[in-house]
Amino acid sequence: MQQLIDRIQRDGVIKPGGVLKVDSFLNHQIDPALSYDMAKEICALYEGEKIDKVLTIEASGIGLAVMTGYLLGCPAVFAKKGMSANISNDVYSAEVYSFTKKVTKQVLVSKEYLHAGERVLIIDDFLAKGEALNGLIKIAAEILQQRTGVVTNLDKEDEALKTI
Ligand code: 5GP
Repeated sequence: MQQLIDRIQRDGVIKPGGVLKVDSFLNHQIDPALSYDMAKEICALYEGEKIDKVLTIEASGIGLAVMTGYLLGCPAVFAKKGMSANISNDVYSAEVYSFTKKVTKQVLVSKEYLHAGERVLIIDDFLAKGEALNGLIKIAAEILQQRTGVVTNLDKEDEALKTI
């Protein structure tokens, strides 16, 4: 998406360790107009498909997942990075190693919010080593008959991004 590439070139900062800082518009402060345009781009990829849920992982994927869910007319569900008092004990889980935090965490989705037979679109902000996406795919594969698709905004192997 050219608009996103332009924005990264303008506002992105490359940090040591191959981390691209996009805090000013994507994963700390969020530009709603850009997120909306990214969500429209994602929806165009799946035009005419029936999608029941958008699935992401906290926290950076949530904004985009909500925008996408809004446009698709379906709920957005996010995997939580750890147990909390307000999540039921009946959960799907997978281990995910964090590229930015360098720790492995158990990510959880309550069984209340994903059901067999649902068609799920998995979204995340970055694709680095694919750990987060693999965790979500594992959760989805455990229960779903059909996974509709997987989308990440920033694939670090993308040729266009390598030139930044
Ligand atoms: P992966 O699981 O694919 O190795 O890494 C993806 C996750 O790590 C994403 O959820 C994203 O939040 C974070 N991440 C990976 N690379 C970067 C990066 O260069 N910059 C930022 N801000 N986050 C990243």
